[in-house]
Amino acid sequence: MTDAYLDGNALAGPLAPILAVDPTTAWRHCPDCGVRGPLAGLRVYGPEPGLTARCPGCEAIALRITTEGPFTWLSLGGPDGAFRFRTG
Ligand SMILES: [Zn+2]
Repeated sequence: MTDAYLDGNALAGPLAPILAVDPTTAWRHCPDCGVRGPLAGLRVYGPEPGLTARCPGCEAIALRITTEGPFTWLSLGGPDGAFRFRTG
């Protein structure tokens, strides 16, 4: 990492195609147990205080969605969790 950085507007281009696709097409690779699979394969618990999706292999948290009035909070797993979206 260098001292040079861009402001958050630099994320708009890379995020736009991800936020525009059908989320059920996303794939996940669990950093904890190695399971790979589609979003539909996650185990979802809730609905209160929000939806928590866990890995079917090890129960690690893959994502959380919570609504608060007009706002929706989205947390994508831990620091190593990632989803793959087809954007092209
Ligand atoms: Zn797992």
